[in-house]
Amino acid sequence: MFCAGYRQKRNFPEAPFPAVFIRPADRLFSGARAHLPLARHLKSNTMKGEQLWDAIIIGGSYAGLAAGMALGRALRKVLIIDSGHPCNQQTPQSHNFLTQDGKTPAEIRDSARQQVRLYDTVRLLEGQVAAGQPTEEGFAVQLSSGAAFAAKKLVFATGIKDLLPEIPGFAECWGISVLHCPFCHGFEVRGQKTGILANGAAGYELASLISNWTGEVTLYTNGPSTLTPAQTANLLRHRIHVIEAGIAALEHQKGFIQNIHFTDGSRAPLRALYARVPFAQHSPLPAALGCERTPEGYIRTDSAQRTTVPGVFACGDNAGPMRTLANAVAQGTAAGMMMTKELIGEAF
Ligand SMILES: Cc1cc2nc3c(=O)[nH]c(=O)nc-3n(C[C@H](O)[C@H](O)[C@H](O)COP(=O)(O)OP(=O)(O)OC[C@H]3O[C@@H](n4cnc5c(N)ncnc54)[C@H](O)[C@@H]3O)c2cc1C
Repeated sequence: MFCAGYRQKRNFPEAPFPAVFIRPADRLFSGARAHLPLARHLKSNTMKGEQLWDAIIIGGSYAGLAAGMALGRALRKVLIIDSGHPCNQQTPQSHNFLTQDGKTPAEIRDSARQQVRLYDTVRLLEGQVAAGQPTEEGFAVQLSSGAAFAAKKLVFATGIKDLLPEIPGFAECWGISVLHCPFCHGFEVRGQKTGILANGAAGYELASLISNWTGEVTLYTNGPSTLTPAQTANLLRHRIHVIEAGIAALEHQKGFIQNIHFTDGSRAPLRALYARVPFAQHSPLPAALGCERTPEGYIRTDSAQRTTVPGVFACGDNAGPMRTLANAVAQGTAAGMMMTKELIGEAF
C-alpha cells in the first residue's frame, strides 16, 4: 500500500518486471534436488522461471543499502541479503554523518531500509550468505538456510569483524567509551581523562591526534613500550604520559569506563579509551571467489569499487580504512552506479 502510494505521489513508473518471490529453503532444496551442485541447481531453477537478479548485494547495512538504492533507482533487479550485525550496533549515538548527526545507528539504518524498500526493483532478505560460485550467467550464492539465488553481478558490502582484546570490560565498553575514531566520538569526550591503548609508531600517532580533543591523554602500551626515545620525549613535552603496566580490566557502568585496572593491582580513573584493534573480513567468500586483498587485509578495489574479479564489487568497511558512515554510503553509491553502467554497457 505504502509503495503504491509512493509511486502515485512521485509518478513512479510501474515495475519493469513481474513480482518476484523469494522461495523458502525447503522449497528450493527439497528431496532429491538437495544434492545438486549449487550452479546446476540454480541453472535448472532459472530455466523454470526462478529470478535471475541483476545484482545480489551481500550485506545490507549502510554501504549495501546505498548500493541497492543506486541500482534500484536505475531499474535494476536487486536482492540485498543481510545477516543483521553491523559493526556499530553498540554505539548509543552516531556522529559526523551530515543530516543524521546524533541519531542511533539503528535509526539511520531503519530509515535507509525504509527508503530502499519503496523501490519495487529492490528486495531485502534476512539471511547469512554462506557459499557462492561463478556460473555461466554470473554468480550463484547460497544462504546458511539452504536457499540459493543467482545474479549477473555481486556486491560485497559485508563490513569487517573487530577482533577485540580479551580484557574484561573491553567488549562491553566498545563503541560507548572505548572508541575507534575521534572524528566520530571525540567531541563528546573532549577535555576528559582519555587513554590510548596502543604501542610504537601507531600509539605515538594516535596520541598526538587525540591531543587535539583533550589535554589529559595517557598512552597505555599494555607491556614494554616500543616507542623510540625521541617519540617518548616528544609525548612527554606534550604532557602525554606512557604507562607500560599490563592492563587487567576496564571497570565500567553500562559501558561507560570509570577506572582502568592494572595487573600490578593499581588503577587510574578514565573516561574514554581509544583503541585500534585488528580486524578480519566478515565473509570468506570474496577470497574464495579470487578477490585480491591489500596487505592490510581489505578487499582490493579500483576507484569504481570493482574488485580484481570481473563482475564482483566491494564497498564500505571491507574495502578500505576510511571507516565512517559517510564513506560507506559514498562507496556503496559509487558501486551501484558503476555496476549499473557495466550492466547497461554489456547489454547495449
Ligand atoms: C563501535 C563503532 C562506532 C562507530 N561510530 C561511528 C560514528 O559515530 N560515525 C560514523 O560515521 N562511523 C562510525 N563507525 C563506522 C561505521 O559504523 C562503519 O564505517 C559502517 O558501519 C560501515 O558500513 P558497512 O555497510 O561497510 O558495514 P557494516 O555496517 O558493518 O555492515 C555490514 C553488514 O553486512 C552483514 N554481513 C556480513 N557478512 C554477511 C554475510 N555473509 N551474509 C549476509 N550479510 C552479511 C552484517 O550482518 C552487517 O549487517 C563506527 C564503527 C564502530 C565499530
